[in-house]
Amino acid sequence: MYITNFQHYLDKNGNIPTNMPKDARELANFLALLIDDATSGDYDAEPQIRCIGMDCSGLIVPTIIEDTNEIYWVCTECKTNGVISNWVGTKWDNR
Ligand SMILES: [Zn+2]
Repeated sequence: MYITNFQHYLDKNGNIPTNMPKDARELANFLALLIDDATSGDYDAEPQIRCIGMDCSGLIVPTIIEDTNEIYWVCTECKTNGVISNWVGTKWDNR
């Protein structure tokens, strides 16, 4: 399970730093997509974010946990999952 504090992936201006190591930047971009998707308010939309698992063609379904304001996400195929915290108010928060 990926437990991520989204603030750790942002610079002081709230952007994903371009000089971040490639792996970390890819994960940061993935988390940003999930935040954007989870807060779009379109709950009936088909999932369209690709799993980050090796050789997995599954799609990720993100859900906001209202109690804690965290985003829980899980892959429909390999069940890779995670929780994102501290994303509220970032530029990917559409609410
Ligand atoms: Zn997967």
